[in-house]
Amino acid sequence: NTFEALPLAAPIQRALAERKYTTPSPIQAQAIPHLLEGRDLLGCAQTGTGKTAAFSLPILQELHADPRPLRPKSPRVLVLTPTRELATQVGKSLETYGKYIKIKHALVYGGVGQRPQVNAMRSGVDVLVACPGRLLDLIDQGHINLSSVDFFVLDEVDRMLDMGFQRDVQRIVSLLPKKRQSLFFSATLAPAMVNLAHTILVDPVTVSI
Ligand code: AMP
Repeated sequence: NTFEALPLAAPIQRALAERKYTTPSPIQAQAIPHLLEGRDLLGCAQTGTGKTAAFSLPILQELHADPRPLRPKSPRVLVLTPTRELATQVGKSLETYGKYIKIKHALVYGGVGQRPQVNAMRSGVDVLVACPGRLLDLIDQGHINLSSVDFFVLDEVDRMLDMGFQRDVQRIVSLLPKKRQSLFFSATLAPAMVNLAHTILVDPVTVSI
C-alpha cells in the first residue's frame, strides 16, 4: 500500500515524494484505483481524511495522460465547493501535487470582484474550482461554458445543502454533458443525500471512511 504502487505518472510521484507522502490514506487507497479506471464515486468522508488528494491526484493523472489545448471559457474539470476557503484549499492541493505538470486552474467564488475571474476564464483553464452562486452568475453572463466538463467533483455536499445550494447544484448539473465522470463527497450520507447522489452518479463505487 504505497503511492508508488499506484499507476500515477512520474511527475505526480515526484511531487508526492517531495512532500514525503509515501502511504495513501484509507480514502485514497480505496478511491484512487477506481477513479483511475473512470468510475463514479460516492464518498463519505470528513475533512482531514485526505479526500482532497483522493480526487486531485486522479484529476492530475487524467490531464497529464490526455493533454489538450486550453479553450477559452471551457474547463475540462469542475470542482464545486461550498465555500471560498475550501475552494482555495483545493487550488493549493492542485498546485502542490501538480507542481511538475502543466495545468492551469482558476478559482471562482463570490464576495470579490469578478473581473480577474472572468479574465482567467477567457484565457482558458483545465480545472475550475468554484462555489455555486458565482459560478452561475458567470455562466449566465456568458463567461463560463460547462459543455466540455468531463470530470465533475462535488465536495462537501452536506454543507452545500445546509447553505441552501440544492437548486443551484441541480441547475449546474443540468448544464454538464451526460457523458462524464462524477464524484460526490459528503461527511454524512443521510437518505436525502443518497437520493441526490443517485441523480448525479452512474453506478458509483461507494467509499466510507
Ligand atoms: P484533506 O482531508 O484532503 O483536507 O487533507 C488533510 C491533510 O492531510 C492535508 O494537509 C494533506 O496535505 C494531508 N495529506 C493528505 N494525504 C496524505 C497522505 N497520503 N500522507 C500524508 N499526508 C496527507
